[in-house]
Amino acid sequence: MSTTTTRSGADLPVATSEEVRSHARRLMLRHPGELLGSLLLHCLATAAGLVAPQLLGRLVEDAGRGSDHIGRFALGICAALTLQAVLTRYAIRASLRLGEKVLARLREEFIDRALSLPLPLVERIGPGELLTRTTRDIDVLATTVQLAVPDTLVASATIALTLGAVLLTAPVLALPCLIAVPVLWASTRWYLRRARAGYLRANASYARLTDGLSETVDGARTVDALRLGERRLRRVAEDIAESYAAERRTLYLRSVYLPVADTGYALPVVATLIIGGLLYLRGHVSLAEVTAATLYVQQLTGPVDRFLYWMDELQVGGASLARILGVRPPGAPRRPAVPAADTEAPASGDLVTEGVRYAYRTGHDVLHDIDLRVAAGERLAVVGPSGAGKSTLGRLLAGVHEPTAGAVTLGGTALADLPLNRLRRSVALVTQEHHVFRGTLRDNLLIARPDAQEADLERALAVVDAEEWSSGLGLHAEEWSSGPGLDAEVGSGAIALTPDQAQQLALARLVLADPHTVVLDEATSLLSPHAARRLERTLARVLAGRTVIAIAHRLHTAHDADRIVVMESGRISETGTHHELVARDGPYARLWSSWHTADHSGTHAAMAGGTAPSNPTATHVEPGSGT
Ligand code: ATP
Repeated sequence: MSTTTTRSGADLPVATSEEVRSHARRLMLRHPGELLGSLLLHCLATAAGLVAPQLLGRLVEDAGRGSDHIGRFALGICAALTLQAVLTRYAIRASLRLGEKVLARLREEFIDRALSLPLPLVERIGPGELLTRTTRDIDVLATTVQLAVPDTLVASATIALTLGAVLLTAPVLALPCLIAVPVLWASTRWYLRRARAGYLRANASYARLTDGLSETVDGARTVDALRLGERRLRRVAEDIAESYAAERRTLYLRSVYLPVADTGYALPVVATLIIGGLLYLRGHVSLAEVTAATLYVQQLTGPVDRFLYWMDELQVGGASLARILGVRPPGAPRRPAVPAADTEAPASGDLVTEGVRYAYRTGHDVLHDIDLRVAAGERLAVVGPSGAGKSTLGRLLAGVHEPTAGAVTLGGTALADLPLNRLRRSVALVTQEHHVFRGTLRDNLLIARPDAQEADLERALAVVDAEEWSSGLGLHAEEWSSGPGLDAEVGSGAIALTPDQAQQLALARLVLADPHTVVLDEATSLLSPHAARRLERTLARVLAGRTVIAIAHRLHTAHDADRIVVMESGRISETGTHHELVARDGPYARLWSSWHTADHSGTHAAMAGGTAPSNPTATHVEPGSGT
């Protein structure tokens, strides 16, 4: 599948024109009944609108002859116009409904695709690109789907019917309409050839601008501390200049195209009037025919104008759809699609890495030939100096990253081959980052297991010692119009959970997800000593009976593990129990003695694998306990 790439979305492609066209076709044809119904109503409304010029033509002729039927014609015109108004109302309602359905579907598809992007790719492209595709591009597409597409279809049908009416009235008077064809054809062709690239460039420039701004806001303190303000301002100025240039380009295209097109659809009215007048004087057509034909051609101006206007909007929408469809993993998706109802048991067994290598940037491996077997139920600690690759290995073992070479298997199945929801039910990564989503406490828990019952949720909260605070949640928060306990609204803008509560919530999710294997990476390091002590007791309960891989940034964690893996410069340098490794007097023994000395001398010296906590025992995670 060929794709083109944009400047800011170097890793996130945009779909080709052919892909956009076929996707748009598929979307429209997904509701054939509604599409036909809406088109039929619009055609009927247009047909009702064609009656008035005919009657007006007859009225003009009769008035010339001094006939007394004028009142009847006037009444007929009123009736036709009323019918047209009523039909138009229903036609617009039908097309707006169809547009909403198509848009809802598009949004769902977008969310599915965005969620299936591999995490490393999301990290690499930065927030701006995805944010712009999620907000600006979706908004643009909403206008296109709700207004541009239905109105273009309606305008096309109106043009066809009105031209038919001119032909029926007086075929010869349809000829002046042809004057518009070369003007409109040439100008539209010129415009369409340039517009797509212009709008893609404009959208990409907005993505880069959003990226730069959100980075600056997120890292405001760093920018301030390192006095990077000037540089960040320069970047924003450059991005604005690029957006300005891109907007100027599309404005230039419109400013050339639209006036030429305007002339194109004004010409036939003038021509019909002149040629019709000449033909009338020579007796080839009646006055009624000239009047009706001129009115029809005049009536064409509206739909042609709308058609051309929406052609522009369709270009903008097409560019946005291309960017939205581009939200997909580059290359064929390797991971199987998530089955709607995945009833298969989670994978379990030994977690094995064979010849695993990993590079964040091509050619810069941070893990080299990692061969490791973690037996089911084992408690493994991974230690080593900062930057040794511990967290990277943890992410590979949890299936967050796929190895650049080699394989990570669980019970013989490669993690990369597991559908995402089965992978998440098999292995979980617990870090110090635990997001509280805006919604009820229940919603936050159901993320981990959508089919969990009320009793399951309460049990999970009890296991992590959260039953007390969770049942009192929302009781004194009338302003949040939410229920108490599980129905309390939490997250940004609602009840704010403390870091300890958020961590407990994350662990309750873990209990619900019930994975066979858990990878812990710095799960307790940001908590207060008191909270960390409590959390460690909770963790011991949550981890009971599971395979645990603890990325040990403090050696106490490692001490109680069944086995310790020491990593240095992306390689495993030693493996064994605490006592074996101390006796071996290698890298681990040196780390242990430096940590021990630091601990007992109270100097809190920086030690391998992180900085010694003010009270190392307080952050003691006990992987071995509870089993
Ligand atoms: P620490 O104890 O400091 O967390 P670690 O042993 O867990 O260190 P990793 O975080 O796995 O080490 O990092 C291993 C190497 O990969 C380091 O050189 C680091 O700079 C690099 N690295 C880590 N994350 C990324 C990333 N997202 N993009 C690029 N390089 C990365």
